[in-house]
Amino acid sequence: MPRKRDEHLRQIQNLTLPVTSLKGVGAKRADMMARKGLHTILDLLLFTPIRYQDRTRITPIHDAEEGLPLLVKGKVIRGGEERFFQSRKRLFKIQLRGEENNLELLWFQFRKPHMSKLALPATELLAYGVIRRNRGVRQMIHPDITLIDKGATAETLGYYPVYSAIEGISANMMRTMIRSALECYLTAIIDPIPREITRRLGLPDLAKAIKYVHFPPQKIAAHRLAQFDTPFHKRLNFDRFFLVMLIIAFRKKSRSRRSGDIYDVSTGLMKDLENFFPFKLTPDQVRVIKDVVKDLTSGRPMNRLLLGDVACGKTVVAVVAAYLAARNNFQVAVMVPTQVLANQHFEYFSGLSDAMGFRPALLTGRLKTAERRKIYKKIEAGEYNVIIGTQSLIQEKISFANLGFVIIDEQHRFGVRERALMDQKGQNPHQLIMTATPIPRTMAITVFGDMDISTIKTYPKGRKPTITQLVTKDQKRNVMEVLEQKLTLGQKAFVICPVIDESEDRDLKSALGMAEKLKNIFKPRFQIGLIHGRLPPDEKEKVMDQFRHGPIDILVGTTVIEVGVDVPKATVMVIEHPERFGLAQLHQLRGRVGRGSDRAICFLILPEKIPEESISRLQTLVENQDGFKIAQRDLELRGQGELTGMRQAGVGELDYMDIMRDWDLLSKAKIEAQRLVEADPELSSPQNLPLKRVVESVLSTPLDF
Ligand code: ADP
Ligand code: MG
Repeated sequence: MPRKRDEHLRQIQNLTLPVTSLKGVGAKRADMMARKGLHTILDLLLFTPIRYQDRTRITPIHDAEEGLPLLVKGKVIRGGEERFFQSRKRLFKIQLRGEENNLELLWFQFRKPHMSKLALPATELLAYGVIRRNRGVRQMIHPDITLIDKGATAETLGYYPVYSAIEGISANMMRTMIRSALECYLTAIIDPIPREITRRLGLPDLAKAIKYVHFPPQKIAAHRLAQFDTPFHKRLNFDRFFLVMLIIAFRKKSRSRRSGDIYDVSTGLMKDLENFFPFKLTPDQVRVIKDVVKDLTSGRPMNRLLLGDVACGKTVVAVVAAYLAARNNFQVAVMVPTQVLANQHFEYFSGLSDAMGFRPALLTGRLKTAERRKIYKKIEAGEYNVIIGTQSLIQEKISFANLGFVIIDEQHRFGVRERALMDQKGQNPHQLIMTATPIPRTMAITVFGDMDISTIKTYPKGRKPTITQLVTKDQKRNVMEVLEQKLTLGQKAFVICPVIDESEDRDLKSALGMAEKLKNIFKPRFQIGLIHGRLPPDEKEKVMDQFRHGPIDILVGTTVIEVGVDVPKATVMVIEHPERFGLAQLHQLRGRVGRGSDRAICFLILPEKIPEESISRLQTLVENQDGFKIAQRDLELRGQGELTGMRQAGVGELDYMDIMRDWDLLSKAKIEAQRLVEADPELSSPQNLPLKRVVESVLSTPLDF
């Protein structure tokens, strides 16, 4: 998978030499790297480690703790190939002598000539690995070993970067390549951020950051490095924050100068709406609709963010907004993160077509080219007035007859880029963004500095909170009983597994396996459906449709149904291996049930062996319904470590964890971005030109004001 995050920074860099320019990299290796999106030297330099091995110190063998990765030193007593007594399988064994104790090093896969050279008696070796005890003998299996050249031990000590694995390229090879790329080409890096800013914040320049992100200096504490908490990682994160904040600053400025279409809104709107929905709008929904109406009659393009927890009823607001646009003869684009959700919205809008005057179109991945062209033509001719689709709405070259309104639903990446690009599809269209991400209002004001904010806090009347239960092995029967009861009442159930099939991870329950198991138990009385990311789009659509309206009673799947899916009849959510998911994600999944008036129940099935901490983490869900509290707790419990990983979000995007984790840096980025835009409103000074080119690349348009 190509790494998107630096795509735009690439635009200003001159380092476009192919990886084959490096010594030792031929066509074959280049091919393997290309599969990971690594084509150029620059790609390599920006391919940041996923973690680090601490090889800064040598631990004496007799002191070495078992079960933790560490570096030991010793002298070879003897070494060579051996065979297991019974299976006759080959292994390579080295006996290593430490100061007081010995250690056995074992390999089951090895190249004999290579190993034999290292295994000569009296050779001094460094071995990095985990020591375990096997029948009383201390062993390291598949350690990474290095020969100690006379007196040069110090040079081999340090933090070793570990990269996301590339088939056919060993970890050592990868390190060597990166090292030589750094040595030969680092000086060619262009730093887009004005020196004055990085200096003020005490951040290193880009070249230095890149160098030390790969090979951190030994003086950095291991625990900080494990959390990516170094000035070098900070610098790379800062670039992303800064760019987003810069674009927000531009948007805010340009917005105040733009005019928006003024909609004609009948005074009886609220009364009219009563005819469209089978329920009474909640006071919060009414309030938000009033905010929307105010925007649409203000003469400025609306830029509104709607924050509301899972299942609070945001869709209605979107529908009302679309209705107003349609009545004023504008087209509406509705962009959602998944195909499943696009289908669902299409169905919902279609159901309201006659009453509300929608002529909806669905742009899906399964469309054949000819069909797609036909739809494009009709969009261009204005025959459709509600166009629903995924990201493809931005990417594809669709021209709208008169796009007046853009709705982005379930936005979990806080991409200013999407908003900016959707703007360009019409003439200052109104925008409504909706999200269930639990971000505090004060933070939202910064991250969405170019938008106004509305919130929905209360749920529709009669909604009963979903009961959540942790289920141990001996309670599983109870789950089956509840399933049986609920299904007999005509209600439906989801069963979520962490993997599609067993080949991904043998220790985990898979969706395929689970579907089979449930069929054995419940067929023919109840129908089981299966949905996951590997199904072709039309198959997914069919399964979802049969679950929503047809014969499927239990839908087994992966997290493809995580966001937005609304099937009010579904009242049971079973999640296998909940310990594998983040709390926020589990909250989203749980939000798929309890959307109607029937009481819903969510079972979190615990595996046999589960650490105490995991149980108490999951307990958070049992005790809380409030997405914000859950997210907060998630942050506290997971600690910084797991969160500080370098994010894979594209440039011009942030995600929730980015925001919560490094709030301080983000706030600074905002201040600096505003300061810069005030000082140089067109980014036309020579030192800002590289930055200008990055911004233009993110926005895919020249910055002209
Ligand atoms: P979300 O905010 O997660 O997008 P939805 O808009 O999908 O939530 O709404 C969740 C469910 O609540 C839907 O089934 C919807 O029909 C229902 N709903 C929305 N508003 C109301 C209301 N005012 N009264 C009763 N049910 C409502
Ligand atoms: Mg929704």
